[in-house]
Amino acid sequence: MTRSSILNRQTALAALILSTSTLVSHGQQDMSKPVITTETKVGPDGKDVLYMYIDGIKVHETDVSKQPLPPVVTPGPAGVLGAAPSDAVVLFDGTEKSIAENWTDTQGQPTQWKMVGGALESVKKAGYIQTKQSFGSCQVHIEWASPANVEGDGQGRGNSGVFLMGTYEVQVLDSFQNVTYADGQAGALYGRKPPLVNVCRKPGEWQTYDIIFHRPLFDAAGKVTRRATFTILHNGVLIQDHVALSGGTGWMGPHAASEYKPHPDKAPFAMQDHGNPVRFRNIWIRELKD
Ligand code: MG
Repeated sequence: MTRSSILNRQTALAALILSTSTLVSHGQQDMSKPVITTETKVGPDGKDVLYMYIDGIKVHETDVSKQPLPPVVTPGPAGVLGAAPSDAVVLFDGTEKSIAENWTDTQGQPTQWKMVGGALESVKKAGYIQTKQSFGSCQVHIEWASPANVEGDGQGRGNSGVFLMGTYEVQVLDSFQNVTYADGQAGALYGRKPPLVNVCRKPGEWQTYDIIFHRPLFDAAGKVTRRATFTILHNGVLIQDHVALSGGTGWMGPHAASEYKPHPDKAPFAMQDHGNPVRFRNIWIRELKD
């Protein structure tokens, strides 16, 4: 090691110690950001190389005990859009069995929603349908079709909804040439955030939502310490780009909004009965870390 590289290394370490101790002493260390530290080492050609550590793990770490390799997941068959991967919880696969195993009404009784041509169809006055299993942060794939026989307009046309934790609604609506308020159209976080684009297919055609949801966090007093976030693809197109939900999505009146209410870490996933025969198929979910 040359004298200059020793000096460089000492300077880098001194700077690291200084910057870390300064941050900690001032209470400014932001735990939401990775802690990056550096170290200078002499490379094979005798030149100094700057090593970087992210949250204590060396970049390009080859020791799997220090940096485990990501788990291997078998993807669904190529060419079948949205087929469930091997680690998904399959909630509805087109069979009566998967309905009986996974779904109830909001009272815990068998759902009155019906099977129509391998799809699960909302029945007027049957109420919401919800999963027996509870989920928190998750990835969801769900396919839906608004009625081919178009009736009604605005919010009355092909209305349903996908409810994360039974609480936060991603709107389902026939938004194909059907004008309504922006924060109530298909793909909206209802009453809170319109989709980036309207990528709705025609009535009766199958559409996909792929949703990445991180649940909100609450402190002991019930105050939100981290908002829920949504990233959503509608028919493969990004419509919500890591949006932090500013409050609840419940309908409280024509121009009102609900606020966050504290709830358990996990809750059933649900779909809405809004009086229109909207169909669903191929529903699966992958639990995510918070
Ligand atoms: Mg709705």
